[in-house]
Formats: sequence, C-alpha cells, structure tokens
Amino acid sequence: MQIIGGKLTLSSGDLVGHLNCRYLTELDLKVANGELEKPKIWDPALETLAERGAQHERGFVDHLEAEGVPVTLIDGVGIDTAAVGSTLKAMERGEAVIIQGALQSGRWHGRADVLRRVETPSRFGHWSYEVTDTKLARETKGNTVLQICLYSDMLSEMQKADPVSAYVVTPGTNYVPEEYRIPDYAAYYRHVRKSLEGAVASPSPAGAYPEPIEHCDTCRWRRHCDVRRRADDHMSLVAGISKSQIGELERRGIETMAALAKLPLPLQWRPERGAVQSYQRIREQARIQVEGRLKGAVVHEALPPVPGFGLSRLPEPSAGDIFFRLRG
Ligand code: SF4
Repeated sequence: MQIIGGKLTLSSGDLVGHLNCRYLTELDLKVANGELEKPKIWDPALETLAERGAQHERGFVDHLEAEGVPVTLIDGVGIDTAAVGSTLKAMERGEAVIIQGALQSGRWHGRADVLRRVETPSRFGHWSYEVTDTKLARETKGNTVLQICLYSDMLSEMQKADPVSAYVVTPGTNYVPEEYRIPDYAAYYRHVRKSLEGAVASPSPAGAYPEPIEHCDTCRWRRHCDVRRRADDHMSLVAGISKSQIGELERRGIETMAALAKLPLPLQWRPERGAVQSYQRIREQARIQVEGRLKGAVVHEALPPVPGFGLSRLPEPSAGDIFFRLRG
C-alpha cells in the first residue's frame, strides 16, 4: 500500500493481508498516510522461506527452458511505467513465457511470477496470456487463489480478454501446474477486494483489534501487536484460550487476563457454547499466569492424574518399546 502521485495504490499483498487481518489494513493505511512508521523486522526464517520460494520459481523457469520454451524476463522488482511498458511490449510480440510480468490496472498493481501465452484472442491478436504462480505450500490456500484472481483481473484489463484459468506450481509435482478456473473464484475475489477498497476509502472509526491469528507468525507488525495486547492485558495472552471463549467472556464484561483470573469459581453462569469445565480451566490458567507475572517467575501446577486419560493411557513399559513424537 503506497500513495503515488496522490493516489493510494494496492497490491496482492494488501489483498491477502486484508483477508487475514483487518487490523493489518488499518496499520498499513496509517503508514501510507505517513501517520505511522513502517516496522523494520528481520526474520531469518522468513528470509529462508523467501529464498526457497525464489529457488522454486527459478527451478520452474529452468524446467521450461529445458523443454525448449523461450522465456522473457521483465527486469526490476517494483512496478513502474517502464516495467509495465516492457510487459505490454512482450505481450504484443506474443512471447511464449514472460517472467515477472508487471501488471497494473487502476490503483492495483503486482508482478506475476509467470505469464504464459495461450491461443485465445485478445487485443494483441489471436493469442492472450494466463497467470502461473509458483508457491512453496503444497496445499493451495485462499491467499494464493486471491492472488491469482487479482493478477488475472489486471491481465484481463491489459489484454482486453478474460483469462479462463490460472495455475499454481507447487514443489514435488515435477512442475505440473494445478489449474484454477477463475470464474469459480470470482465472487470470492470480488468480495474481498471490495471489502479492502471500502476499508481504505472509509476506515471504521471503531477500528479492529489485533486478535492473534496464524498470519501473525509471518506479519511484520507482530511486535507492535504483541505490545498492544500486553498493554491491554488482553485475554488472548491466556494459554489455550479460544476465540469463542474470549467472545463469551467479553459479552459478560470480562476483558482482561487479570479479570479472568479473579472470576469466581465455580462458574456462576452457563456458557452459550462449550462446557463449563473448559471455562474453569482457562480461569485457572489465567490465575497461574497472573501469579507468575506478580512473582516475576514461571509458575506451574501439576494436574492430578486422571485414570484412562492422557499419559495414563500408555501401556505398561516393555523392553521392545520404541518412542516417537508427533508435533504440530
Ligand atoms: S501481527 Fe497479527 S494482529 Fe497484528 S497486524 Fe499482523 S496479522 Fe494482524
């Protein structure tokens, strides 16, 4: 998200970010408007992932070249008039494969990993292009589908012909692309895009809250959000608490971990969802964490063993036992 020439421009990263977290859109908009500084974050794990992603893309391009397909690379990394112009010229010439094609339509822009020529008419002639994206994840997620839909939408505008499909190349598939029919996902794409365009045009005065989600692990704002949650003593700090439990507790006026730690036991009300015991368990968890915070130490309490549950279900040891552990 950037303001260029007085106009807010958006990318696939903004669309994917918005799908995952409305708070992220609010923060990025503040950066674009100069109200907040962009966080500087260096994460070796993310660097490694980015490098592996680049290797996977290079592997796919090498594979195409080994098959005798000529490829045209669009230089540079960002989107500027020169990169978009080079991409348009390559499409007009009817190049077979365009790598890092610079796409632009209205306020949207992005670089597609690969544009492949198909023999469907467009304003260029009897050919047009479809998007192929290389992704490390073996399972294609909503994020990727949104991205290829956005690229296909911009491509549609540039070539004046709708791409029928877009493709994703994942590792371990001998570079055989998976096909995604764009019309199947168009309504979903339009919905998320409209939501983002609305959020940047008229930000909600109430604002979103940085609820912890999976996307936080790779988000550049994670330190900022962690500081906010700790300052608020937000209940998401309680280990093992669920989003629906937080919602139920907030509706009952409990808004901090310290307040949850003091909730009278046994529980005086029946939860709308979930078992009473699960609320008692998170109340106790909050109590232990608050105690630890006050003592400045990690406090723990052992749960009483329950016959037939957890580790007590292990069989009696034998000499031939082999142990292995599953995580995640
Ligand atoms: S760290 Fe998490 S909550 Fe904060 S902006 Fe990023 S995704 Fe949203």
